[in-house]
Amino acid sequence: MAGPVGTRPAPGGDLPEHPDRLWRNPEPKASYDVIVVGGGGHGLATAYYLAKNHGITNVAVLERGWLAGGNMARNTTIIRSNYLWDESAGIYEHSLKLWESLEQELDYPILFSQRGVLNLAHSLQDVRDSVRRVHANRLNGVDAEWLTPAQVREVCPIVNISPDVRYPVHGATYQPRAGIAKHDYVAWGYARAADALGVDLIQHCEVQGLQISNGRVTGVHTDLGTIGAGKVALSAAGHTSVVAAGAGIDLPLQSHPLQALVSELLEPVHPTVVMSNAVHVYVSQAHKGELVMGAGIDTWNGYGQRGAFHIIERQMSAALELFPVFARAHVLRTWGGIVDVTPDASPIVGLAPVENLYLNCGWGTGGFKATPGVGWCYAHTVAHGEPHPLNAPFSLERFVTGALVDEHGAAAVAH
Ligand SMILES: Cc1cc2nc3c(=O)[nH]c(=O)nc-3n(C[C@H](O)[C@H](O)[C@H](O)COP(=O)(O)OP(=O)(O)OC[C@H]3O[C@@H](n4cnc5c(N)ncnc54)[C@H](O)[C@@H]3O)c2cc1C
Repeated sequence: MAGPVGTRPAPGGDLPEHPDRLWRNPEPKASYDVIVVGGGGHGLATAYYLAKNHGITNVAVLERGWLAGGNMARNTTIIRSNYLWDESAGIYEHSLKLWESLEQELDYPILFSQRGVLNLAHSLQDVRDSVRRVHANRLNGVDAEWLTPAQVREVCPIVNISPDVRYPVHGATYQPRAGIAKHDYVAWGYARAADALGVDLIQHCEVQGLQISNGRVTGVHTDLGTIGAGKVALSAAGHTSVVAAGAGIDLPLQSHPLQALVSELLEPVHPTVVMSNAVHVYVSQAHKGELVMGAGIDTWNGYGQRGAFHIIERQMSAALELFPVFARAHVLRTWGGIVDVTPDASPIVGLAPVENLYLNCGWGTGGFKATPGVGWCYAHTVAHGEPHPLNAPFSLERFVTGALVDEHGAAAVAH
């Protein structure tokens, strides 16, 4: 009850203290040993491992918006490592192993849930490709199984395995160690840990050009002024081609909108993650209870972080075909992000044609799962000035030499 006039607490005065900030909010210094461009998951993880693994702490992460406001906060959080080629298995499995101890490493909850991923096969060719991938995965030490339709139903009882639907389920690959995590917690965990090691996280600072002298990058031009840098590591996801163009580098990237949606909160009905290339949808259930559904990319190129209605319509009709039980669920929210796609559906991680400039991009629809792994390897690449063995196959030169890592099959509908 309120006390007499004059003794009442000030409005809000009875609320608890403001919780501790997770990171500082520093002014940029005149120069840094390393500037990371882009404060998404990859940029934050790179900064953390630069400090943690290599003792390089005079580092700034420059983010034009707010930390993890790009794809990191917009993705559907699927984590798996069941890619076809040895090169991909190497980096994605390294990442999955890091996910398995990330909560302890960062001392921060990330809600990593290894609930498994099913990739459905709907045609004879799908079955052949999928079984081949299971064998390739096993040779690389990646847990993978081939499931019959009845076994699919055991793992996820609400999948429609009727033979009478337009795309009947002939079976599925299954990776039990795959799963999901809470994306914003992952970003905050890395940001907090990097900040504690001395990294400056600078938000609302857009990199508008690269300062280059004698073929070597020496800093970045930003809307807060020019900041000197010994090395510059790009991690700007869908906008990497724009930033790299500032150094005269024309990257083999196309930027596309990719969108997703969530339903209203439901009781637990969906115990795993289900993906279907042919039907073109994938679904999981978030910790809170929303069904999280993703679709393929919008084929239009663009930089607007928006979706389009026709994609949602297709996505929902595909989802209903696989999960008739969703017919009564309501859509709560839908959004889009901008993903950067390479011609072979594999990323570019390594050195740039300009000295002391580094590239991490082209993760397209599937870079969230790579966050710890690429942060680790990219930090090594930047620290040593040469690629980590796990990202060496993902150089920019492969588009000249032809040593492509074609992951269109396993990169899937998305992710
Ligand atoms: C709808 C959707 C669903 C997805 N689902 C999955 C999934 O289930 N599993 C999976 O593995 N991957 C998924 N992805 C892909 C994944 O989100 C990305 O590959 C990954 O997040 C990219 O790395 P990032 O987190 O660093 O990117 P971002 O978070 O986009 O970080 C890049 C940052 O750079 C900043 N930036 C850009 N230009 C500049 C500049 N000039 N100056 C300063 N900062 C700049 C941006 O603001 C942004 O914050 C999905 C993506 C989308 C959009």
